Amino acid sequence: MGTVIKGKPVADKITDSLREELRGFEKLTKIPRLGILRVGERPEDLAYERGATNRCKKIGIDVEVKTLPMDVTQEVFIEELKAYNTDSKINGILVFRPLPEQINEEVIKYVIAPEKDIDCFSPVNVGKMVEGDPSGFPPCTPTAVIEILEHYDVQVEGSDCTVIGASMVVGKPAALLLMNKKGTVTVAHSKTKDTKAVAENAEILVVAVGRGKMVKKDWVSDGAVVIDVGINEDEDGSLCGDVDFEQVKEKASKITPVPAGVGSVTTSILAKHVVKAFKKQHQIE
Ligand code: NAP
Repeated sequence: MGTVIKGKPVADKITDSLREELRGFEKLTKIPRLGILRVGERPEDLAYERGATNRCKKIGIDVEVKTLPMDVTQEVFIEELKAYNTDSKINGILVFRPLPEQINEEVIKYVIAPEKDIDCFSPVNVGKMVEGDPSGFPPCTPTAVIEILEHYDVQVEGSDCTVIGASMVVGKPAALLLMNKKGTVTVAHSKTKDTKAVAENAEILVVAVGRGKMVKKDWVSDGAVVIDVGINEDEDGSLCGDVDFEQVKEKASKITPVPAGVGSVTTSILAKHVVKAFKKQHQIE
């Protein structure tokens, strides 16, 4: 049976190291500050906001939340975003997506200041990720995947990696980050002829599809490392991943659980990015 690799030790390590780093800034009068821009009250946004706020507070990062009504106009939304861009007390900005349909994300992504864009909304940060430029901010969830692999000593370099799912939020950036680490990467999406076949070839399998328990035991090679990004509800209303955990753990060498896996690391990456932005904005090495 494989080892269950949990997110908490990874998140705790990042939290401790950031807290320590912030102690070193005590001579500064300024405190890193995250600005959240949320439209409406979607339960998943509120849950993430709570997690992110708690994580930041634990570390010593201030959090400010601006909420806008669901019928907010694009003009007002842009005004509020620009206000965060120019507010010198705000170091990182998180915009919850998807935005309501009257707000065009294709416009907004060019408005957010790239140096405050801690979750890779701006094309500048997408470009930096493609180039492997470490000065940018890759998206938090795929970065959490990489942190987990590093924490548990999984070697990406030279490994055959398969990513199932190709969204801009998880799958595609996860594939790029694995490639930047010199993994040999295959990506499966909705038009892939045989997703099971590409999964079977993987030494490292990252799954981000959004279909509960889709990946079964016979999809996974013996000893593979399986990272499950999915968050779904099963037939009993309990949380489950995209991987059939009970089956696949018998075959994998290492496997993340859901909940308590990737999701628990994401907010600590967010906090790490706020501190990185703060340091850059204050020319701290
Ligand atoms: P998404 O935007 O719906 O994307 C799903 C991806 O899966 C798409 O690229 C789609 O292909 C692909 N796909 C669909 N059916 C497939 C199949 N049979 N074989 C291979 N690929 C297939 O979802 P997402 O935003 O990436 O999220 C994926 C999962 O991760 C969800 O469960 C979500 O809740 C979870 N999530 C977790 C976190 C976290 O912090 N843990 C953060 C974000 C998301 P096409 O591109 O061709 O449509």
